[in-house]
Amino acid sequence: MKNGDIVQKLLAWFARHARDLPWRRTRDPYAIWVSEIMLQQTQVKTVLPYWRRWLRALPHLAALADAPPATLHKLWEGLGYYARVRNLQRAAQIIQQQHHGRFPRDFDAVRALPGIGRYTAGAICSIAFNQPRPVLDGNVMRVLARLYGVAGNPRAGRANARLWELAEALVRRAAGLRARRGCAALNQSLMELGALVCAPRQPRCALCPVSGACVAHRTGRVAELPERPRRTRPTPRRFMAFVVDRHGRVLVRQRPAGGVNARLWEFPNVEVAPGDSDARAAARKALGRLPAALEPLAVLPHTITRYRITLAAYRAAWRGETTPSRAGARWVERRALNQLAFAGAHRKILRQLQAGPGKPS
Ligand code: SF4
Repeated sequence: MKNGDIVQKLLAWFARHARDLPWRRTRDPYAIWVSEIMLQQTQVKTVLPYWRRWLRALPHLAALADAPPATLHKLWEGLGYYARVRNLQRAAQIIQQQHHGRFPRDFDAVRALPGIGRYTAGAICSIAFNQPRPVLDGNVMRVLARLYGVAGNPRAGRANARLWELAEALVRRAAGLRARRGCAALNQSLMELGALVCAPRQPRCALCPVSGACVAHRTGRVAELPERPRRTRPTPRRFMAFVVDRHGRVLVRQRPAGGVNARLWEFPNVEVAPGDSDARAAARKALGRLPAALEPLAVLPHTITRYRITLAAYRAAWRGETTPSRAGARWVERRALNQLAFAGAHRKILRQLQAGPGKPS
């Protein structure tokens, strides 16, 4: 089957089977860009409410450029990988300053924006502007590696370069057809096929519009392709965190700019050695002095990038008026805690706290 036939089949399949996602109903590059950034590392069903809430709160570029960081963090809270939201705002500010507030249409100008790599620039230019720019995310890699029988690590080296070439050949072919918005539809058909049919395990080849052309299907190599890089084992880390209460106010602190979870809020905490269970010593280290009482609250598992974290949380009673002398620490009314954007593991503590006694995790 030639590329032209593959493209025709993909377009016909997409027209019938594409999910009705809200960012597919718009050509606004801003709305499409936000969806693409949210969808990095995150599933569609998780992104849907976040995207809707974001577009209601910040309906255009200027609103994003001018939004207070606390608003952005709250809108993003729970999606993780917070560098994405900071890059979104920096990019919006650059567009305001350098492109007169209009989202650039030029691929190189789009790619030069913070947080936008080759994939995201290709997605925006093809979906919003129907330009023949290829996309290669995890779903598209899997489809193309199987369809064309591309061996090797799909994320690096020659195999990756070959997959980009194939993606480009297909979208250019789509541009040459009379199809309405063919480039936008072709790229999205590859993403959608990977999401709905050509799944990582047990792809539904019987329903696949291009099974007749698929090398992996024909040669019985579907389970082998694409090659999976060896996973590194996650590193275990252990933290102790302290929910310090004084007259209905709780001690929290804001993480410094520039590091992991920058500017997000957390309860005072310290990292401890894997077997260390001395909560009193950890409390003294985290708070500067020993609290009046300590009581276990919850033990919460949390995974972030390559770390498998265990977070042991304690309630701590605080006597006296002195505030623990830690940078960024602040007493906050209990009921106002929900207004702050917490780092993922600490939001779990907050939920635990609000679930009340008798509901351990
Ligand atoms: S035939 Fe199967 S393996 Fe090949 S592209 Fe279609 S779903 Fe994927």
